[in-house]
Amino acid sequence: MKEQLAKIRTEALAAFEGAQDSAALDALRVQYLGKKGELTAVLKQMGRLSAEERPAMGQLANEVRAALEEAIESASKKLEAAALEAKLEAEAVDVTIPGAPVSIGHKHPMYSALDEIKDIFVGMGFTVLDGPEVELAYYNFDRLNAEEGHPSRDWSDTFYFDADSRVMLRSQTSPMQVHAMETMPLPIRIIAPGRVYRKDEVDATHSPMFHQVEGMVIDKNVTMADLKGTLNAVVEQLFGKGTVTRFRPHHFPFTEPSCEMDVQCHKCGGKGCPTCKGEGWIEVLGAGMIHPKVLEMSGIDPEVYSGWAFGMGLERLAMRQFKITDLRLIFENDIRFLEQF
Ligand SMILES: [Zn+2]
Repeated sequence: MKEQLAKIRTEALAAFEGAQDSAALDALRVQYLGKKGELTAVLKQMGRLSAEERPAMGQLANEVRAALEEAIESASKKLEAAALEAKLEAEAVDVTIPGAPVSIGHKHPMYSALDEIKDIFVGMGFTVLDGPEVELAYYNFDRLNAEEGHPSRDWSDTFYFDADSRVMLRSQTSPMQVHAMETMPLPIRIIAPGRVYRKDEVDATHSPMFHQVEGMVIDKNVTMADLKGTLNAVVEQLFGKGTVTRFRPHHFPFTEPSCEMDVQCHKCGGKGCPTCKGEGWIEVLGAGMIHPKVLEMSGIDPEVYSGWAFGMGLERLAMRQFKITDLRLIFENDIRFLEQF
């Protein structure tokens, strides 16, 4: 019996050591330690031993069982480690292989122009505001002195959401003037860039969606001279020192007096050429002194405070800056076009 146990021990340990995977090891566990296993079979013969022999043999049998169990445990751990190693090997990534190049785009030319404008105004102490594109006609028109019946409120010009013409896509960034007057303490210096919407057919110079930059200053003793001085300084930074401007009288409901500002054509120096359509001047923006009624409606006393405001089309500015001749190119986002900037 002693020899039998020694033989089982030697054979089993060698077998466990040689097991190729955990399934094979499980089979061996059953073969040696299972209910019908080899060790169990030997232990069943214990009854035939004499009372003197039994304790020693029992102890030996237990030692063999413990040795076998320990060997299975360590073989199992070795197999697990090997399996993990193989898995890692199979899934390994060669970090020395050069990566696929990632193509990085760049800022849209119109947004580069906007960034430049923002920089100039922030440098002069203006705050940049953002506001809603879905707007109440109350803010887009009424509060800007364009009352019921004003032609710009017509359904043929404006995208309304409701039959009562109360909710609309803003047709200008000017409602941001009113939002600023309602929420900001005086004095106010803001610009508000953003998308605006009008019922225009798409052609080389029109689109139903385009961008404006609104600007407004309200303080004590603000005059038309401040408007001209500030806008001339902005234009010099945008188009170069010594850029000549002119201010023509115009009409807007929310400013009085109102004007449009032109810059002298950089191509021909004012003589007239295709770039300026023979005019010698290029229109840049509309501006004016804020109408006293607009200030009053926002609770600002026009006897104490005055202000000026302007609005410029961003696409037109970018077209001028980058010599783009067709507005549609700005929105089509053809990569062959955009890559040129
Ligand atoms: Zn010209």
